[in-house]
Amino acid sequence: MAYLTDSIRDILRAPKNIVVTMHRDPDADAIGSSLGWAAFLTKIGHRVTVISPTEVPGNLIWLDTGSDILNFEDRKAGRSLCLEAIDAADLICCLDFSAMGRLKDMAVFINRAKAPVLVIDHHLDPEPFATFLISDVSAAATAQIVYYCIGEWDASLMDEVIAERLYAGIMTDTGSFRHNNTTREVHLAVADLMQYGVQADKVHRMIFDNSPLSRLQMLGHSLSTITVLPEFRTSYMVLTHKTLEAFHSSVGDTDGIVNFGLQVEDVVMTVLFIERSNEVKISFRSVADFSVRELAHAHFDGGGHKNASGGRSNLSLSATIEKFLGILPHYREQLRAVNK
Ligand code: 5GP
Ligand code: MN
Repeated sequence: MAYLTDSIRDILRAPKNIVVTMHRDPDADAIGSSLGWAAFLTKIGHRVTVISPTEVPGNLIWLDTGSDILNFEDRKAGRSLCLEAIDAADLICCLDFSAMGRLKDMAVFINRAKAPVLVIDHHLDPEPFATFLISDVSAAATAQIVYYCIGEWDASLMDEVIAERLYAGIMTDTGSFRHNNTTREVHLAVADLMQYGVQADKVHRMIFDNSPLSRLQMLGHSLSTITVLPEFRTSYMVLTHKTLEAFHSSVGDTDGIVNFGLQVEDVVMTVLFIERSNEVKISFRSVADFSVRELAHAHFDGGGHKNASGGRSNLSLSATIEKFLGILPHYREQLRAVNK
């Protein structure tokens, strides 16, 4: 399958001012694919500005080797440069998301921009805001799609830095190569990336074994909140605002905690409720055929993938949990039918 259609090739051919952006609360796939794509665009002659709608998590900053990422929420230094770049852009590339809401406050500026938008993503049901769409829901990561795109353009442009960024995105979005999106194609792509000198252990260490002690203590606390609902083969954990403060939680600290809920025997769906200052952020994970995406989309203004989705609620924390408990009976038969 060719990702680079003739019209995309045409637009990439002449040098341009390009903005590359990603989803809010960016993860390693958002950052790795965006920085990898940006490095490729720079190599082929474009002027590139990379913007994150929110702060880059501490354990991912090292991926930004050139300190290129502007933070749209940084009102001192970042915001005005972001707005200038969006205004001057001839092309805006949106990586690892296809729902405008995931740009947070940046959405209105991207919506209003005159430049065409190229979306590169692997989430289901892209919203129709792309002028050019490279969407492949069978890809494990957006970084995997970027890897193919660079190969289609000119494989000799791949280098160690780009390979490391793309490797990081693929590794994290496959749960370190253990989720059911870890296909033969993933391993082939990663095997090729490793030829450029990627050190798998280093990337893993930098991302996962690089936490402040307080994050691990917060994980310990989260685990102590696990509630299991055997009838629905569901577990959930809760992080209150007070807990986040007590453990000095910063951006990205809560990533990955939700996955522990699936380690409980017979549990096929798990949920993490995080009480942020202006909303309750909800993470959903499931196994096999049960679609948390459907549930997140239908009830919690969210979406994502079949087995990994996110959503939000403007109710209080306790009302949000009540709402969740209230809808579980509708999914009882589906949950009971899952093969774990
Ligand atoms: P997480 O629980 O790690 O925040 O998100 C899990 C997956 O769902 C990720 O692929 C993420 O991109 C997606 N996701 C998280 N929140 C939202 C949301 O509000 N809307 C949509 N469409 N996807 C989301
Ligand atoms: Mn992704």
